[in-house]
Amino acid sequence: MIDQAEKVLNNVFGYDSFRPLQQEAIQQVLNKEDALVIMPTGGGKSIIYQIPAIIFDGLTVVVSPLISLMKDQVEQLHQFDVPAVFLNSSLTPEEYEQNISILKQGKADMLYLAPETLLMPKTRDLLSELNVECFTIDEAHCISEWGHDFRPEYRQMADVRREDFPDAACLALTATATPRVREDIRITLGMKDSETFLASFNRKNLFLKVADKDDPTEQVLDFLYTRKKQSGIIYCFSRRQVDELYVDLVKEGHSVKPYHAGLSEKVRTRNQEAFIRDDVNIIVATIAFGMGINKPDVRFVMHYDMPKNIESYYQQIGRAGRDGLRADCLLLFSYSDTQKIRYFINQKEGDEKKIAEQHLNALLKFLEADECRRKPLLNYFGEEYEKETCDMCDNCISADAEVEDFTVHAQKFLSCIARTDQKFGANYVADLLRGSKSQKVKDNDHLDLPTHGIGMEWSKNQWIQLSRLLIRQDYLSKDPQYGSLVLEKPAKMVLDGKENVFGTLDRTEATVDSEALSRTNSEVENKYEEKLFETLREKRKELADQKGIPPYAIFPDTTLMEMAFYFPQDKEHMLQIYGVGKAKEKRYGKIFRKIIRNYCDENDLEEKEKYLKQRAEESAKKEKHVRMGEAFNDGQSIEHLAEEYGVKDVTVLRELKKYMEEDHDLRVEGITEASSLSPRKQEEVIEAMEERNPNLLKPVYDYLNKEVGYDELRVMQLYYLARERVK
Ligand code: ADP
Ligand code: ZN
Repeated sequence: MIDQAEKVLNNVFGYDSFRPLQQEAIQQVLNKEDALVIMPTGGGKSIIYQIPAIIFDGLTVVVSPLISLMKDQVEQLHQFDVPAVFLNSSLTPEEYEQNISILKQGKADMLYLAPETLLMPKTRDLLSELNVECFTIDEAHCISEWGHDFRPEYRQMADVRREDFPDAACLALTATATPRVREDIRITLGMKDSETFLASFNRKNLFLKVADKDDPTEQVLDFLYTRKKQSGIIYCFSRRQVDELYVDLVKEGHSVKPYHAGLSEKVRTRNQEAFIRDDVNIIVATIAFGMGINKPDVRFVMHYDMPKNIESYYQQIGRAGRDGLRADCLLLFSYSDTQKIRYFINQKEGDEKKIAEQHLNALLKFLEADECRRKPLLNYFGEEYEKETCDMCDNCISADAEVEDFTVHAQKFLSCIARTDQKFGANYVADLLRGSKSQKVKDNDHLDLPTHGIGMEWSKNQWIQLSRLLIRQDYLSKDPQYGSLVLEKPAKMVLDGKENVFGTLDRTEATVDSEALSRTNSEVENKYEEKLFETLREKRKELADQKGIPPYAIFPDTTLMEMAFYFPQDKEHMLQIYGVGKAKEKRYGKIFRKIIRNYCDENDLEEKEKYLKQRAEESAKKEKHVRMGEAFNDGQSIEHLAEEYGVKDVTVLRELKKYMEEDHDLRVEGITEASSLSPRKQEEVIEAMEERNPNLLKPVYDYLNKEVGYDELRVMQLYYLARERVK
C-alpha cells in the first residue's frame, strides 16, 4: 500500500520522495493503526493524513483549532483536485448545508472541522452515518494543559474518538517540542510508545544569528537592505515598539504592515491577508502574530527584542523557511532586555518564578553560546546535535570579523559616487564597480567610466555592506527623496587619502545575495534564471489574485525555481518539476510553459531535457496501477496480479479502481472471478448498491445487515463501477 502512497505523492502532489518519518507514519495510518507524529513546522505533517485520505474509500476527519486557516487548506487541496470541505462557524447557513450534502454523497475525501463544531450533536450524528476511516487531530498540543494553547474542547477529542470512531485510525499531529506536552498528548489519547513518531527538531535551512543590539533601527535597515523582495516577520516586545518601527520602515520605503492585539480585528485580518497574498513583504508584530500562518516562503524572522523563552523563539523562527529553502533568523540581544525580563520574573512567586528563571537561563545559554547554536537549542528539546559545526549559524561562520582597514575599498566606492554625480543608490554603484554591462549602465553611458569594473574583488553584497558602513560613519547619506547616495564632508578626507576608514563587514551576510532569494547549497537554488523566476512569480501573483487565493496555493517558490532552472517545454517534462502533479499541470502547465518558452527563445536557452527525461522514465516505472490495469485487461486475473506484485487482493482492487478512475475501461467479466460470493449473493449486493450510493461502502454494508464483509464489497463495487462505465 505504501507503493500507492508513493504514487499519490508523485502524481497528486508532484514530489519525488518522502521526507523522514512520513512514510512510516502514512503506513501506520493505512494499516488503521494510531499514530502520534511530532515534527517541526515545515516538516511535512499535512500529507501524512492527506495521502491516506486520498487512498481510503471513506472519509478523513481533520480537527483543527485554526478556523482562519481551513478555507486556505481546502482551497490548496482543490488546486490538487482533491475533494475536501470544511465545517465551522465562518460558513453561511447555505454553504454549511452544501458542504453537508457533499459529505452525505460521499464526495469528499477530507473534512476539516473546528473542535466545537465536532462536539455539536448534529455533527456527531452526521458523522456516524459516514464511513470515517481516519480521525486526525491537528495541533494536538491543544489537548495539553501544559502547552501554550490549551483548549478545553480538545480534551474531549479523546472521548469522541473512542465513542464515535473506534475503528478509524487516530492520527495526532503537533510541532510541540517539549517532552512533557508530548507525553501528555500520548497518554490522553491512549497511545503506545511504539505509536509515537518523533522527528528531529533541527531545521537545517534556518540560518541562526544573534547580534548585539546597539542601534536596533539601523540594524533592521541593514538587515532589510539585502532582502528587498523577500517576505519576513519582525517581532517586537510591545505594541508601541511595533508602531514605532512600522513608521520608521514605511519612511524608508519598505513594504510593511503592523500587527498586534491593539489593532482592530478587521485591520489585523487585512494586514495578515496582505502578507499571505504577497501584497506586502514585511509584518512588524508582537507575538500575537503567527498562529496559523502557513505561508511557506517566509524568508526571514527577526527578533527586534528578546523572546520570552526558547520555546517561543523556536516557534517564531519556525515560521520561516517552511519550503525548505534557506531562511534567516536574526535576534538582537541586549542586557537591558534581559533586565526587563528579570523585572517581570521578580514579580512572580513560588514555582512560577522558578520556572520563569529556568526559562530565562536556558535562553541565555543559547544567546551567549560561543559554540554552534544548534547545540543549546536542540539540547533544550532533549535532542543532541551530533555535529561539531552546522555552517548555518553565526558561531559556525564566525561572524565576529576583526576590525579591518577598508580605506581603499571606501575610496573606490566614494569615487564612483562622485563620478556618477551622486545620482544613484548603492545597488547601482555596486553594479558599476563590478563591471555590469546592464542596459541601465549602457543607457547612462557608464561603460567607460574609470571606476567601471574596478571592484571585481568583492561581491555585490560586500559593496552594499560597505555602503551601509559608510552611511553609519557619516561619510555618506541617503537622499530621502530619491534614495541616491550623497557624499558628506568627511568623504573628501578619505578620497584625498587624509583619513582611513575602519570597520567590520559581517561575514554571515556575505552569503546572502541581494535582490534574489538567499540560497542553500543545491545547484537549482544557486543557478536558476532570476529574471525568468521573477516573471513566473508575477504570473503566479496575477493568477492568484484572479482566483482570490494565496500565490503559494498555485505553486511554491521552489517549483518556480525549478522551472527557471530546467525550462520544461512539454507536458511530460513539466510533470517532473517539484510540486507539479497532474491536476496542477492541467490547470497551469500551459500558461507557465509559454512564459518559459518565450524566455528561452529570447535568451537562446534550451530545456535541460536529459535530466527531465530521466526523471520522467523513473516516474513512469512507478505507475503500477497502469501496468496492473493493462495486464488485467489483457486477461490476467486479480489473484495472479496479487501474487506477481506480492500484495493482497484488496490492493489490486484499489489499483484497478484507480486505473479506472483515470478514465480507462476495465474488463468487466474478469472482476467477479475474485468474488467468493454466490451469484445470488452477488446480485443482492448489486441491488444494494443501486439502492444506496455505490461509492460509499458503509451504507451498503449496513443495508445488507453487515453480512457481507468489506473486501467482498470492494470486489462488487469495482464490478459495479466498471459495468456502469461501459453501459
Ligand atoms: P507542517 O504542517 O509540518 O508545518 P506542511 O505539511 O505544511 O508542514 O509541509 C511543509 C511544506 O513541505 C509544504 O509546502 C509541503 O507541500 C512540502 N512537503 C511535504 N512533504 C513533502 C515531500 N515529501 N517532498 C517535498 N515537499 C514536501
Ligand atoms: Zn552552527
